[in-house]
Amino acid sequence: MDHEQAFELLPGYIDEELSLSESLEFERHLASCERCKHAYEQQRQVIMQLRQNDLRLDAPPELVKRIRAALPVQRSWWQRVASRLGGVSGFGGTGRTSGTGGTLGWAPVGAMVVSLVALTWSAGLYLSLPAGDTHLTQELVDSHVRSLQFDHLYDVISTDRHTVKPWFDGKIDFAPPVIDLAQQGYPLVGGRLDYLNGHAVAVMVYRYKLHPINLYVWPGSEAGATPHIYERQGYHLAHWSAAGMNYWAITDAGESELNGFVTNLRAHSAS
Ligand SMILES: [Zn+2]
Repeated sequence: MDHEQAFELLPGYIDEELSLSESLEFERHLASCERCKHAYEQQRQVIMQLRQNDLRLDAPPELVKRIRAALPVQRSWWQRVASRLGGVSGFGGTGRTSGTGGTLGWAPVGAMVVSLVALTWSAGLYLSLPAGDTHLTQELVDSHVRSLQFDHLYDVISTDRHTVKPWFDGKIDFAPPVIDLAQQGYPLVGGRLDYLNGHAVAVMVYRYKLHPINLYVWPGSEAGATPHIYERQGYHLAHWSAAGMNYWAITDAGESELNGFVTNLRAHSAS
């Protein structure tokens, strides 16, 4: 694991979201890299300061129940958070040589993440409930937020569409169009598999400056060819269908930036 990769994985390591092999590789790198050690220490300090300033906010029990019910069963982070809150986890401060110290130290971080999720969700539940597509757009927003929170933007990291496109081969039963828009200011940064509406979907990840754009694609023609832009919980979403594929793009960038992305993407799909 090189420095760049390790640096990408740091937030996931802190939130215990890495696989065992990733964690071990990360720790191996950490032991030999001063810059990563320093960054790791800094993030720990921030977390400790947040704790001391008592910025933790508990979600109302009713909301917690609803979130828990809505979460996919196979996701185990809830259970891990719950077990951390109960002090069952064996995760120590240095990871490799975990003793008894530091186990409970991570609990408020998990709780804080849960509370932030809860806040995000409640904003959507209470402030905007327009008709149609509500369920799907909510799923999209949740998926987008999760991909950022748990440092799971991509399964394949590459700016080369010739790397990203074949990566999907054999993982899904369709070939998503992968288009590079670096010259238009929207570089491709990777791809991943995700689930929406109970289906496996392809996600191409782009960036506009510092804003990630998740582009979800799956077969079908549920929308018209003209993109519609929505706003949900502070995120902008665009939805359209073309050449037998459904497209949903979502980002925290502004409406005009998303519009530019969609316009460029459609122009290049057609060419
Ligand atoms: Zn490093």
